[in-house]
Amino acid sequence: MDVRNCKKCGKIFNYTGDSLCPACTKEMEEKFFEVREYIYKNPSAGMAVVAEDNDVPIQQIKKWVRQERLTFTRESGISIDCESCGKPILTGRYCKECKNKLKNNFSGMYSEHAAQKNDVKKIDSKGKMRFLGDN
Ligand SMILES: [Zn+2]
Ligand SMILES: [Zn+2]
Repeated sequence: MDVRNCKKCGKIFNYTGDSLCPACTKEMEEKFFEVREYIYKNPSAGMAVVAEDNDVPIQQIKKWVRQERLTFTRESGISIDCESCGKPILTGRYCKECKNKLKNNFSGMYSEHAAQKNDVKKIDSKGKMRFLGDN
């Protein structure tokens, strides 16, 4: 069994991959909704201000942004770095370009299949005016 000290309250708890004990995790969940509301009402507040006003560590706010649970507006001037190319982004882990690249790599094996499907569509529409694969 892996036990650790909670990073927030110092209590010992069963470690399950989170650095906070269950009580503090729950508290953070409640904080999350507070922070989200706060950002909604104060779209131009900077990360340090958000952290201070809501009594949440900046690291925690960044974590929420990485998880795409929080999104800052452009007015806030807040951005985090794309984990792949370092470009500033507003939410998530990667910028649009890197996300697309990752997606293309992932779906590359399907592209040949997709091309074949298009051919079928063309031939079929010439003959019977019916589209295959349009379901
Ligand atoms: Zn705790
Ligand atoms: Zn990138």
